[in-house]
Amino acid sequence: MKQKNEIVVLGAGESGTGAAVLAKKQGLPVFVSEKGKVSDKYRRVLKEFEIGFEENGHDFVRILAADKVVKSPGIPDTIPLIKQLNENGTPVISEIEFAAGFTHAKKVCITGSNGKTTTTLLTYHILKNAGMNVGLAGNVGKSFAWQVATRDFDYYVLEISSFQLDGMFRFRADIAILLNITPDHLDRYDNNFQKYTDSKFRILQNQTSNDYFVYWADDPVIRRELKKRKIKAVPVPFGEHSANRFPGAGITNKKIRINNDKNSFDMTLEQLALQGKHNVYNSMASGVTARLMEIRNETIKQSLSDFQNIAHRLEYVASVHGITFINDSKATNINSAWYALEYMEKPTVWIVGGVDKGNDYDLLKPLVAEKVKAIVCLGQDNRHIHKAFDGLVETIVDTGSAREAVATSYYLAEKGDAVLLSPACASFDLFEDYKDRGNQFKAAVSEL
Ligand code: ADP
Repeated sequence: MKQKNEIVVLGAGESGTGAAVLAKKQGLPVFVSEKGKVSDKYRRVLKEFEIGFEENGHDFVRILAADKVVKSPGIPDTIPLIKQLNENGTPVISEIEFAAGFTHAKKVCITGSNGKTTTTLLTYHILKNAGMNVGLAGNVGKSFAWQVATRDFDYYVLEISSFQLDGMFRFRADIAILLNITPDHLDRYDNNFQKYTDSKFRILQNQTSNDYFVYWADDPVIRRELKKRKIKAVPVPFGEHSANRFPGAGITNKKIRINNDKNSFDMTLEQLALQGKHNVYNSMASGVTARLMEIRNETIKQSLSDFQNIAHRLEYVASVHGITFINDSKATNINSAWYALEYMEKPTVWIVGGVDKGNDYDLLKPLVAEKVKAIVCLGQDNRHIHKAFDGLVETIVDTGSAREAVATSYYLAEKGDAVLLSPACASFDLFEDYKDRGNQFKAAVSEL
């Protein structure tokens, strides 16, 4: 039965279950509603905390009577239930927004179209090495709400997607990091890039002059937006030309320079654990953030150079008969594939394709013309790839599994070449997710 002032959590995944546990621990009446089946893992948690839930459908009457709804980021705003809640004026918030109300910890919040997970983990690595009592949340590991419910951290590093941001209203980031804005997920934003951009900029809402805004100063979209908006937080640019900004980070004489408002330090690009141009930016973003938090230069340097890269992001897999295999399965949009191609130094056999989210392949043409010797399509529908690259690249072959793609690439490549899986597309046509795609790729390479 519905209780007074009930909070309804929509979606019994990681964030939803975390939010429900937090509500319960705070003594608030809470009910979880899941459209599909609740997985065993979360069923156990809900039972353990004696949280009421339903599955395989939503009880509209109960949900519409809720005081507040915490919505999983996977649920679009366009479904009738959410539209109705919005019309009724019921607050529909994200798990991050909900959990932030129950902690005084300082929050470093990272968003952008690409590089969020890498920069989140890198920043966390530095803070951890500095001995801080810090939690890691967002898309990685346990949800923020779960940790607020069960741990007592002084700091959090949070990876925040645009879908989470859409449900955030009062949340305030102590340090907001905006890595870049390029087209992605436009299907959820009425194919309107400005709407997606506005969503990303919500990371700044409620910031005051005591907070920091760390941003990639070379991004044309961010630059344009900054001209339009009044930013209250202290601006902290990073990018090619920001080496003289205090605080800020930039590049000078092939070194990155990181400045807070008092002092600076340099690191050569070779000293950075993460290679590739995009990772230089990610390293600057994490490094300057750590400096703002007054972490010692030595700790930052050490951490930026001993960080272990995460799987599926420009991950070196193996060298087989002089052919290097690289797994960049997480490249699910054009921009991330652009950086992967930009990074390649050897003639490359490029494995691309999957579920195309409206890609403009023209942006990749100069790099493809320069670096790609053959294309191996890995998707159910490869027409867009053929349309873009037929004529530009001599050999384009269609394949239907990771194993076939690897075998074909191996056949097409020669000693000294590289095979790059950087699909620029989502993976759901042939794989469970990008991890499954990357793992199948690696398994196929190991069988060569
Ligand atoms: P996200 O969490 O935003 O999806 P990841 O760190 O998981 O980002 O990286 C996703 C993909 O984007 C990978 O292919 C990675 O190599 C690439 N990438 C990482 N950082 C950047 C960046 N700053 N700009 C563009 N691409 C990036």
